[in-house]
Amino acid sequence: MLVKPSAGYRGAAERVESTVLRGAARAAGQLIVVGCLGCALGGCSGGPAGPEASGPAPTPAAPPTAPAAAAEAPGPAVTPPGDAPAAPAGLGARALPVGPDGVAAARDTPPELRNRSIITVDDLPPPPDGRFHATVTAVPASVLARSSWTRNCPVTAADLRYVTVSFRGFDGRAHTGELLTNARAADPLVTVFRRLFAANFPIERMRISTAAELNAPSTGDGNTTESFACRPVRGQAAWSQHAYGLAVDLNPFQNPYHKGLVVLPELATAYLDRAEARPGMVRPGGPAVKAFAAIGWRWGGDYRSLKDYMHFSATGG
Ligand SMILES: [Zn+2]
Repeated sequence: MLVKPSAGYRGAAERVESTVLRGAARAAGQLIVVGCLGCALGGCSGGPAGPEASGPAPTPAAPPTAPAAAAEAPGPAVTPPGDAPAAPAGLGARALPVGPDGVAAARDTPPELRNRSIITVDDLPPPPDGRFHATVTAVPASVLARSSWTRNCPVTAADLRYVTVSFRGFDGRAHTGELLTNARAADPLVTVFRRLFAANFPIERMRISTAAELNAPSTGDGNTTESFACRPVRGQAAWSQHAYGLAVDLNPFQNPYHKGLVVLPELATAYLDRAEARPGMVRPGGPAVKAFAAIGWRWGGDYRSLKDYMHFSATGG
């Protein structure tokens, strides 16, 4: 996962990602920016307090329906469309208190999130035909500008790609997500998300976090699937694999980071029980582990010194 600076957590083994959930609901029927960001980027730990004023502009350079990848017929929905609940009030809007060390403590999961299967609010237009589509392009300037990339990052903008893929929400519907990722990982990751879509593996949200979102106080309830995040490992000079676009965090809330007393996102403690299978969890031998293994990526759930269930990387780091 990614480490979130404001959470003071940047360090743990290079993978503390902060999850920032921003919920900014607009009127029904409009795109809403709810989100958590940060998990994939900096460590999943919480989210920004308050609605996000500037969510990702729903203006991807490439239309999500571009026929870059062959369409696949979706299988049966995980949840009958319409049955999944909306996000509970306050999700992503309450910053957790932090201790003297600047870190928020792990907490009990709110009852309504113990089996988290909430609807996806579309950041990008969903695929009109309900099938899988993907696009891979150079990173548009507008996307780069709202990302955490700067010239100080260990990769150039030319090293990255802007990827859109269809994903299945917990609401059973097809949605469009976006990723910034390393150029050499772009096509392989499309195959991963194609497989996850075909397997009906549910994902709550997939979008690119801004630097501000990554640095916002943690709300502990973020759940954004992400790849690139320009962050070093806490307390280290080394960059996270996310800073190279060579790692992905998948459903951080259902798949928290855990080392000792540290749990990220902080409210995801109910998901430390990996024996109780719930939708969106990455499990040994499951579709996510298999899909990433097929492109040679390793899973943080296999780490021995800690567990980073959301984390997959090309290097194993
Ligand atoms: Zn990660």
